Amino acid sequence: MSAAELAELLVSSTSGVAFTGAGISTESGIPDFRSPGGVWSKVLPIEFSDFVRSEEMRRESWRRKLTFDETMTVAEPNAGHNAIAELVEQGRLAAVVTQNIDGLHQKSGVPPNQIIELHGNATYATCLHCARRYELDDILREFKKDETLPICDACGGIVKTATISFGQSMPELPMRRAKEVSLACDLFLAIGSSLVVFPAAGFPALAKEAGSRLVIINREPTELDPLADLVIRAEIGAVMSEAVALTRS
Ligand code: NAD
Repeated sequence: MSAAELAELLVSSTSGVAFTGAGISTESGIPDFRSPGGVWSKVLPIEFSDFVRSEEMRRESWRRKLTFDETMTVAEPNAGHNAIAELVEQGRLAAVVTQNIDGLHQKSGVPPNQIIELHGNATYATCLHCARRYELDDILREFKKDETLPICDACGGIVKTATISFGQSMPELPMRRAKEVSLACDLFLAIGSSLVVFPAAGFPALAKEAGSRLVIINREPTELDPLADLVIRAEIGAVMSEAVALTRS
């Protein structure tokens, strides 16, 4: 029933936005942060200021990266990612705004220029001082040997994965683009996000205020449910693929 209602909204949409959180990638084997058994039930996040201040925190962060990569580097897009890619191809969704850092929307075939990454990307690293890009293979090889911390060859700055940590400034251009597409869309799908990480979680309300329909898909309630035109409490892959199949018929 919910899939049918979603499909009805999708067929009349020409400038939709999919806003995705860690929940869309759990069916690919990447744990989210806030579900029971999720990452935050095991370790606390490392604040950006602690990462910069403390060598030990940087070591801990790179140790976590090694563990996270065991699942992230082998993960493949699932039915939810594929459904979104098809909706982009159909021209119903204009953009994918994601809080994820796993690169799975790119892997599912959404053109990179239609993906807006709010929290960066965990598949490479950059120098915090001069922004020079570093690939992870070399860094992780050295780190695995004796936990050597990466330092920028060009300026000696601290090198960090290209993700946005708690307490770190949000990237300007993606934030601006996400605001633009949220203000311009006719349908906003918040998929697999607990909608508690701000400022990213502000976009659903912004879109709704600007006149878009708002759909929230999550297996658990979220605080923004009362604002939504449609709340679907289900597993993402199943409901998204059912809805997309209905848009074809
Ligand atoms: P979150 O972990 O706070 O919330 C995920 C939400 O998805 C939860 O509310 C959960 O109930 C729901 N969910 C999980 N699997 C689902 C499924 N199969 N079907 C339906 N609902 C499902 O995630 P968030 O809001 O994105 O915030 C966490 C932050 O952590 C993000 O900023 C992101 O950068 C980062 N993160 C990214 C990844 C990734 O890239 N895959 C993984 C973990 C965390």
